[in-house]
Parts: sequence; C-alpha cells; structure tokens
Amino acid sequence: MTVSIASSPRPFLHPRPGSALHCGKVSLDALARRFGTPLYVYSADQIVERLSLFQQALKGREPLVCYAVKANSALAILKLLADRGAGFDIVSGGELERVLAAAPQAVERVVFSGVGKTAAEIDLALKSGILQFNVESEAELALLAERATKLKKHARFALRVNPDVFADTHPYISTGLREHKFGIDIRHGLRIYKSVAGHRRLEAYGVSVHIGSQIRSAEPFGAAIARVSKLVGQLRSEGIALQAIDAGGGLGIDYHGGAFDAAAKVREYALALESGLGGFEGRLLVEPGRFLVAQAGALVARVLQVKRNGKKTFVITDAAMNDLIRPALYQAHHDIVPVTPRAGRPRLVDVVGPVCETGDFFAHDRKLRPVEPGDLVALLDAGAYGMAQSSNYNSRPRAAEVLVEGTRARLIRRRETMADLLGPERV
Ligand SMILES: *Cc1c(COP(=O)(O)O)cnc(C)c1O
Repeated sequence: MTVSIASSPRPFLHPRPGSALHCGKVSLDALARRFGTPLYVYSADQIVERLSLFQQALKGREPLVCYAVKANSALAILKLLADRGAGFDIVSGGELERVLAAAPQAVERVVFSGVGKTAAEIDLALKSGILQFNVESEAELALLAERATKLKKHARFALRVNPDVFADTHPYISTGLREHKFGIDIRHGLRIYKSVAGHRRLEAYGVSVHIGSQIRSAEPFGAAIARVSKLVGQLRSEGIALQAIDAGGGLGIDYHGGAFDAAAKVREYALALESGLGGFEGRLLVEPGRFLVAQAGALVARVLQVKRNGKKTFVITDAAMNDLIRPALYQAHHDIVPVTPRAGRPRLVDVVGPVCETGDFFAHDRKLRPVEPGDLVALLDAGAYGMAQSSNYNSRPRAAEVLVEGTRARLIRRRETMADLLGPERV
C-alpha cells in the first residue's frame, strides 16, 4: 500500500467536477446502491497512514501506539491496526473481547483504562495477559492486587494521574482537572506507588495521563507530560523505576475542513511530548482514537424529503441521531456535502433525521447545495464516535459499515435486521 503522507486531510473527494463523491477510488453512489443507506464508509488507507504518522514521529522513543478502541471498535479496523503494530487502549471487558476476536496476538499490547473496572473484567484482562492496567483509584489498585493474588497472575500497572491541566475542549470531553472523575490527584502519586512497592503480584510499570479529547493545541499535552515526568523523577529517587509513560489520547482534528496538515499536527504533538519528557529514557505509549479514524469515515444518507415549514427548509435524511449522535450530544459540527452535486446556489437548511426528538439534527442553518428527495448526502469526519455511539433508538436497526482498501470495498458489518433487535426480547 502506498502511504502518501502529504495527502488531503479527508479521503472523500470528487475526482472530477460534477462527478460523485469518492472514497479513494470508490464511488459513494455505487456503495449506497450496493449496500443501502445509512452507510458508514471508512478509508483503510487513511487509517493506516495516520497510525504511521504517530509511529514515525515518536520513532526515537520505542513508541507503542495504543489505538483507543472506543472511538470505533469495528473488528476489521482493529485487525487493520493490529497488523501494523498498533496496541489498544480499552475501557471495558467488552472492548477486550473485541481485541481478542480481531487480533488475539495483540493482547500483549493492550492497556486497560476506565474509572470503574469490575472484578470480572480485571480477571479477564489478567488471564489474557494484557500489557498494563491504568489504575484510576487506590480502591481499584487494591482490587487489582486482590484479583492478581487470587489468580496468581502478574499485573503491570500505571497510575492514571490527574495533572490538573486545563484543555480547551467541550466540557463533556475534558478530563484532566482535579474536579473531574478521572485519575488520581498527581500529588498522591508518590505515596501510592510506595504503598505497593515490593508487592508480589503488582509491578509498577508506568504512569499514565489523559487530559481530554478533541484538543487542538499541542501545548497542554506537553504541560501534562512535564508534570508526569517530574513524578517519574521523584519515584526514581525513591528507588521506583518506571519503564513507561503513557501520554493518553486526545489530539483533535479540524471538523470544518480547513487547511489541516495531519503530519505537521502529529509532529507538533510529538515535539510537545518530547519537551515534557525531559531526560526520561523509557517507553512512550500514546492512545490516539479520534485522530486515527475520524476523518477516514463518512456517514452516507439518502434524502427522504425536503420540507418547508414557515421560513425554514428541512432536509430530512434516512440517517438520524441514533446513527450519529455527536451533533445532539456535543453540539458537534460535521460538514455535509451532496454526493452528486446539482447546479444551483447553496441554500440555508436544517439537516435532520426522522427520529421523534427536536435534538435529532445534523445541522442548523447550514449552507447546502440544492438536494432533492432520493439524493445522497455525506456527513464527513464521522469515523470516530459515530457508529461507536450509535443506538437502536426508535427501533432503528444500526447502519452497515464498509471499509475501502485501495480500489476495493468490503462490508465489515452488515446492516442490522429487525430480527437482530427483537432477538433478546420475550413478550
Ligand atoms: C477516550 C480516550 C482516549 C482517546 O481519545 P481521543 O480523543 O479519541 O484520542 C484515549 N485514552 C483514554 C483513557 C480515553 O478515555
């Protein structure tokens, strides 16, 4: 596969003016006819390219890029990344099962984050032999010690510390302040590591930090790592030598389709980490989610109706908030483009789904080229936290997913049927 680092931030382009939008070499119009809508389409080439940006930029550090599974947990995407050396950041036993199903050999590159791990989840992870538990409280550390002792398993852990660094992002996805539920106040780190030093089953392997998501500036990452490095230095002088620093995820993308050089962004991020790391010589783990998959994905929907209510025009699509909840949940912006452009001036419209909620919208007062019922539109940058946060609300079967690799497209998740939805229920 050719990796063109300088390529466009999005793999969705019109090859010629007036032609249908393509993902790489594959027409979205053809995909929609073949697989139906709503349809998630992902570019494997871009996902691979983004992974390699991190691997390249951090090369001097023996890096392990642990893809954050929660951003998009499709088995085919996990396999794609595992085959190229990625590890995984998981936040549940279910995500661990996904890694085991897609790429069992990658389990030794798994880190397990999350504020509320159950004993059963910890047991599964211990038996599977994951790399590291990112521990978020003293109580969790005690539980990990108890389970590891019971199962006679070795547990490598990192305390997830809270560096008290402010990251300018949406409040729902900011996590690095003392008032958030995540992590352990960094001021308690030294005491807690010391409290388990010499434990038979616990190995203080690293320290981790994750300050939030969709962070556009590199600066807070550097600030957080600098605080973490300081702790690592204090630990070393107390005889506790950690092997790894896990810098978490959170690097943001541009949802407005502006000039965006992904390679430069990752280099800038790597430089910020580097400056924060100081003299630390161990392993560096990073946990990007969104940055690897967001721009690689689009949600393709068909226009059902174009409806005028008073002064407003509503474009009603067959995709809805159950397919992509980000606009409703975070007031997130997704660029929307007609797949096959029609002549005519752009008009201000609301793009909405058929779900019975006023919150079921993709865009308010958006300039959109003319569309008519039956036309296709693509919601861009939908590869992260799209399908992963989808639901069956309004008894809507989940969308199908297609992965485009070069000139080939393959179905990686079939569309759900009503039988899938009704199966678990009893009258
Ligand atoms: C969500 C999450 C990530 C990934 O965040 P992105 O913004 O998608 O890069 C990484 N690590 C942890 C602990 C997370 O909770």
